[in-house]
Amino acid sequence: MKAECKKIGLKEAGALLLAPEHRRIALAVHTAPDGDCLGSALGLGAFLQSRGKTVFLLADDLIGAAYSFLPGIENFLRLEDYGQLEVDLLCVLDAGSLERIGKAATVKAKCYLNIDHHGQNSYFADRLYQDTKAAATGEILWELFDACGWDIDRDIATCLYTAIVTDCGFFRYGNTTPKTMRAAAALLGCGIDPAYISDSLEMKTPDSVRLLAKVLAGLSFAAEGRIAYISVPHELYDPEAQTDSFINYPRYIFGVEAAAYFKAVGPRTTRVSLRSRDLDVAAVAVGFGGGGHLRAAGCTIEEPLEQAQKKMLAALEAALKKK
Ligand code: AMP
Ligand code: MN
Ligand code: MN
Repeated sequence: MKAECKKIGLKEAGALLLAPEHRRIALAVHTAPDGDCLGSALGLGAFLQSRGKTVFLLADDLIGAAYSFLPGIENFLRLEDYGQLEVDLLCVLDAGSLERIGKAATVKAKCYLNIDHHGQNSYFADRLYQDTKAAATGEILWELFDACGWDIDRDIATCLYTAIVTDCGFFRYGNTTPKTMRAAAALLGCGIDPAYISDSLEMKTPDSVRLLAKVLAGLSFAAEGRIAYISVPHELYDPEAQTDSFINYPRYIFGVEAAAYFKAVGPRTTRVSLRSRDLDVAAVAVGFGGGGHLRAAGCTIEEPLEQAQKKMLAALEAALKKK
């Protein structure tokens, strides 16, 4: 751990965010942003703005069309929009390293705050609030609002609820705890519309559904059916397509213990999503420079699709053997 990275509590995190010397605050999310990091940044950003802060929402990647319903989503900036940015405080949400936020890491800040629920952390920040038991960063933020007595309006609640349900699969995954449900119950009490949120998150373009048909035709197995995987070859890769949920198809097949989704985002760059029943796929992803949680993890392998598949399947088989 860096000597200057200090672990703090929720109230300290709240005081840091509202400190008068922190007038300009940037909130950064990880690349390939999901509902947890986007909802967390939007919810916190809306509150900080209401307290007179100048807030910059930074995402160094395309944001999926499914998130267009989130209040304030149009305010996210990409590096080309801000060039050289200097702020008083940079808060990194739902990511444990500066590498995870891509080019947003070039922003200059007097102070770095990191709020996350992942187990891996590079301890880059001056102050860190990390809770690996939280189902989502959005759950931590709800606790932050609660601990500090901050008001949650309907828009903020919509963002935080989206963050929570994204990462716990609408309360189906093993990371769901009584606290996850209490947070969601409190947010429902703020007047949000849960059906609107779940419908919006499910929405896909016709092209995304057509792509799913092609991808499922290539469903493959390894390790005598204990591993299932699907792939998007580079010729079919569409950065605008909503494909996050594709991993759910290989995942829920009888006999499958680990599922992988390979996406050739470049001719020599393959993004991998991993899911499992109880195999530690975060440990496998860390072996490729990635990370995540026990049952849901990811990494990017700088190899063409086929080589990336070979290496990852070998690593998953080795991990299954050790079980
Ligand atoms: P995904 O498969 O993209 O939905 O990611 C599953 C989990 O793994 C999420 O918690 C991600 O934050 C994490 N994750 C995905 N890719 C990476 C990566 N390259 N480095 C660290 N964590 C990752
Ligand atoms: Mn995330
Ligand atoms: Mn998360």
